[in-house]
Order: sequence, then structure tokens, then C-alpha cells
Amino acid sequence: MVVMRRQIKSSGRWAKAEAILRELEEKCGAPKAKLRQVADAMTMEMHAGLASEGGSKLKMLISYVDNLPTGDEKGLFYALDLGGTNYCVMRVQLGGKESMIKQEFEKVPIPPHLMVGSSHELFDFITAALAKFVATESEDFHPPPGRQRELGFTFSFPVRQLSLVSGTLIKWTKGFLIEDAVGQDVVGELTKAMERVGLDMRVTALVNDTVGTLAGGRYDNPDVIAAVILGTGTNAAYVERAHAIPKWQGLLPKTGEMVINMEWGSFQSSHLPLTEYDQSLAAESLNPGEQIFEKMISGMYLGELVRRVLCRMAEEADFFGYDIPPKLKIPFILRTYNMLAMHHDTSSDLKVVGSTLNDILEVPNSSLKMRKMIVELCDIVASRGARLAAAGILGIIKKVGRDAVTEGEKQRAVIALDGGVFEQYTKFRKCMMSTLNEILGDIAGVLSSSISTTAQVLELLFLQHLIPRNEYSL
Ligand code: BGC
Ligand code: MG
Repeated sequence: MVVMRRQIKSSGRWAKAEAILRELEEKCGAPKAKLRQVADAMTMEMHAGLASEGGSKLKMLISYVDNLPTGDEKGLFYALDLGGTNYCVMRVQLGGKESMIKQEFEKVPIPPHLMVGSSHELFDFITAALAKFVATESEDFHPPPGRQRELGFTFSFPVRQLSLVSGTLIKWTKGFLIEDAVGQDVVGELTKAMERVGLDMRVTALVNDTVGTLAGGRYDNPDVIAAVILGTGTNAAYVERAHAIPKWQGLLPKTGEMVINMEWGSFQSSHLPLTEYDQSLAAESLNPGEQIFEKMISGMYLGELVRRVLCRMAEEADFFGYDIPPKLKIPFILRTYNMLAMHHDTSSDLKVVGSTLNDILEVPNSSLKMRKMIVELCDIVASRGARLAAAGILGIIKKVGRDAVTEGEKQRAVIALDGGVFEQYTKFRKCMMSTLNEILGDIAGVLSSSISTTAQVLELLFLQHLIPRNEYSL
């Protein structure tokens, strides 16, 4: 089909492009009042998801982790981390509080065809990398004779846990889609793959990355109550009181606590500032209509949202001239790391924006005006994501905060944060932090961030008694 378009005069061109940006800005707007509504909706959905299985879009998955590390742990541990862009194998030697942690790891990018292939192929690939890594074990790492090596498996997808060491995959997210693995026990799949290559290891824990980050955070800091991942995908886990989980049928854990994997990426609410770009992205993705919150916030999607807006600017405003750059039509060609490089460009002529346009979209000779508008576009999309992430965190604080109230007492709450977007996208991180200050302002005392050895942490010092108490009981 040949689509005839009228050429737009260059003066009208900028005005039209400007109008598209302003419209986007308005639709993406997340003022304080709106963020509070999002946070309240998050708190409500948390309640609903804990009340019954399928009670909410938020799965609120029981992790079977009722005991967090204290820092006294000792021994040799292996760990696998599968879920983002890279696959990671690790070995740590823990010596308790007094002695140093020895750690070695290796990161392997996952070949894209394996993300959409068969379960067998994926698990064979990760097991082969693990076997190679185990073979490099040095003398001082060897477990005592006759002891099987123990393996922790961090699997960053929604899993319905059957125990701490087993769980079935509910669905894939991010760039993965391997039909025959859905509904399977992922530990079973891994164990079978290890048997195929004769690797003698035992999986001792299956955890989501948020749960791993929470445990790692708690290892360093006893005040850690939640963990948030802002990476390829996004999610949060937090410590819940076991008796506040009506759907939990098992014995109450001795600690009285249970870590909940929220799977907040699938959060949905009429309060979310959705745009036509979100809608088309959601409809055309590998998981249509799902993970709406994730698609507004995480690294897999931010660059793609920018590309979609640029497409409209190209089509309706001749933003790149009369011809639409063919590369711009390719979904996911503009990655979030391209976006952040442009967004962080501080040179007066926006060199990085120019070279990104040239290298990725094959748009040479971009004007300064065009480059400035693109930086603004990145800012609108990133700020919305960062502000929504902050609202999600407020939702968690409201959920846990109203319980342990001691009138007038100051309570410290620490949130462990991890993921590529949080670590590398400085403007995103700064916006999220300042938004937290803004929305927690009334209930928070001080807000600061510091770096710990495992994950970065966000320390919230807030006055518990100022959090409304009965507002959210269902
Ligand atoms: C997954 C979560 C995971 C998050 C961050 C999401 O797509 O559903 O399980 O924690 O990404 O990796
Ligand atoms: Mg990760």
C-alpha cells in the first residue's frame, strides 16, 4: 500500500512536532496527587492479592523464604542468576561476620534465539556454562569430600513456588517466550539438565531476583524491609507478617514472617497515566496486554516507547524530513542504553544525540533543535517511569507501615535496589529519589541513599504514626 502524505513546510514541522511532545507530556503527567492514587491502588491490590489466589493482577507470590540471612552464614555456595539480558554464575565463600566474603562470578549474554526456543535448549545452555564454571573451582573452594555442591537458583520470572526448592513457571516476561516451559517446575528442568551432563549439584533454593536482593540487603543491614528491581524488567519483594496473608494455607512460619514476591510489573490501575504509545506497545509485544506497569518503567521498554513517539513525529510532523528513516520502523532498535546516553548528553551541541541518531537510526546531520527535542522526549518518558516506581515504593511503605506502629516513634526502613536502570540511568534514579522525597514528604523524616556491598540501598526514615492506619483494610 502506498500512503500519500502531504509534505509539511519546515516552519510548520517544528510546531507540529512540538505539539506532539506537549500532548505526550500532558498524558504522561504524574503529579503528586496522581502518584498518591497510584500508591493507594497498589496498597489495595496488595491486600487483594494476599487475600486469595487470583484476587488481583498482583500475584503476591509466597516465596517460602521466612528466614533472612543474618550475616553469620558460613560455607561454599554456588548461584545461578537467569532472567535479564545476561546469565550469571557465581560462587561465594561466606565466613560469618568476622571473615571476608570470597566471590567469583562469570556473566554470559543469553543468545536471543534461546529466549524463544525450547526449554531443553535453554536449560542445556545454562547448565553447560555452570559446568564450565564449576570446573574452574580452585583448591580452597572445594567442598569437603562426599558433600554435594549446593546451588541457589535465582530465576527472575513469576513462579508459583511449591516449596523453597521447587516452583512452576506461571508465565514468561521480558524478552522470553518458551511455551513448553510454562507450567513446568523450573528446578526439575534444571536438575534434569544437570543430570544430562553429569553435574552433581543440588538446588537448595529457588528465588526471584527481588527476593535475592532483599536477602542480600538484609545480610548487610537488618533494617531492609523490601527490595526493588529496576532493570530489564521491574518488580518488588517485601517482608510481610505471615498472619496478614489470608491465602496462606500452610503452617505459620516460626519467624512469623514471609517474603512476598509482588510481581508488581503486572500492576494495573485506571490511575496509571497511559498513552496511545503504551497501548500499541502492549498490544504488539510478546505478552500482549500484560505487564503494563513494567512496560511503563523498565529498561526493556523505555527506549521502545521513545521510538514509538519518534515514529509519530516522523509520520505526522516530518520530524526527520519528508522521508521516514527506515530504521526507525524497526521495533526495539532504540535500546534504553541509547536513550540514556542521549538523555545524559551534556555537550553544548548534543554530540551524543547526534551520533546515536546517525549510528542507530541512520539519520545524519540532525539539527540542534531536533536533538534538543529528543532529549526532552527522553526526559518525559524516563520521568514518568521514575515517578511511577516511586509511587510503587510508597504503596509498599503504606502497606507495611501501618502495621508496626509505635506512637510517635521513628522507624527506619531500608529498601534495597538493584538493576541496570537504577544503576546506570542516573537521571531516572535521581528523579525517582526526588519524587520519593516529594511524595513521602508528609510522612517521611529524612531520605538518603547509600551504597552497600550487595545492592544499593535507599534509607527511609519516617514517622510511622503519620501513616494513615485503617484506610486500606478491605
Ligand atoms: C519478572 C519478575 C522479575 C522482574 C525483574 C519481571 O519481568 O516478572 O519476576 O523480578 O522482571 O527482573
Ligand atoms: Mg538481575
